[in-house]
Amino acid sequence: MDISVIIPLYNEDESLKELNDWIVRVMLTNNFSYEIIYIDDGSSDNSWKEIEKLSVENKNVKGIKFRRNYGKSAALNRGFDAAIGNVVITMDADLQDSPDEIPELYKMIKEDGLDLVSGWKKKRRDPLTKRIPSKFFNRSTRIMSGIKLHDFNCGLKAYKKNVIKSIEIHGEMHRYIPVIAKWAGFTNIGEKIVDHRKRKYGITKFGFERFIKGYLDLISIIFISKFGKRPMHLFGTLGTLIFIIGFIIAAYLAYAKFFMAEYKMTERPLFYFGLLAMMIGTQLFLTGFLAELISRSSHDRNQYLIEKELGLKKYGE
Ligand code: UDP
Ligand code: MG
Repeated sequence: MDISVIIPLYNEDESLKELNDWIVRVMLTNNFSYEIIYIDDGSSDNSWKEIEKLSVENKNVKGIKFRRNYGKSAALNRGFDAAIGNVVITMDADLQDSPDEIPELYKMIKEDGLDLVSGWKKKRRDPLTKRIPSKFFNRSTRIMSGIKLHDFNCGLKAYKKNVIKSIEIHGEMHRYIPVIAKWAGFTNIGEKIVDHRKRKYGITKFGFERFIKGYLDLISIIFISKFGKRPMHLFGTLGTLIFIIGFIIAAYLAYAKFFMAEYKMTERPLFYFGLLAMMIGTQLFLTGFLAELISRSSHDRNQYLIEKELGLKKYGE
């Protein structure tokens, strides 16, 4: 199969028929063999009824319904598990992304050999309150990850099959899929300027908290990528440094008390700094130990992806 289109959706019943017809039209004109997988993320409207209707009319239409709303990342992740096409395309259900981009995205993966192509909503049809924070996120993510993309969180993306079979996304990490793909060793990442349209039906499913969550996720991503496998290096270094500063302060105060004997130690503000620094230092150090224990017992501590092998027999042969 050439293409799997994965569409996460939450209460988008008005858009589905129009979107589906459009995708099918593009697939037919280009002679692609395809599947369209709808992941209904716990909708409370008629979305699932629509999907059932569509799949009766067209056997390439498939669907998964979550019992409740788990979020876009979970929906995408489940879609990635299910997809069987050689090229996998994700797109939003709200008709903001245009299916007309599919053939070109397919070509960039298939012929130009890219692992991942991310859409870039250069002319964005979203309110200013969303565009400005988004600029900030994209810039920080670009600097932290070293990936030169303008628009990390574009819903329209295309992947080589083995990329999506190798990565896992949970929480709200769909904003950072290119970063996750890069860690997994898929560095051939490209970008395509895509047409972006105003939301035609319904309302956005992400409120203001998207900015807070996005910001926290960015910090976790940075932390995990740099120290996830060796947390002690961060906490241990910080803890030791801070402890040493506290210790020097305390030693100096003790010296001053005994040899200059002119004041009580607790009367000097510095005393409290020293005390606090030693306590925080110890805490950080212990946090490092705990983090190290946790990361050692996690199931994926030795997970690696193998690209090729040579001259090895299968185990047990
Ligand atoms: N979505 C989802 N689960 C959620 C929130 C959103 O599957 O909990 C889907 C939504 O239906 C849409 C896509 O994710 O297909 C992008 O959402 P939306 O258009 O609301 O985001 P925006 O365009 O405002 O960034
Ligand atoms: Mg949208």
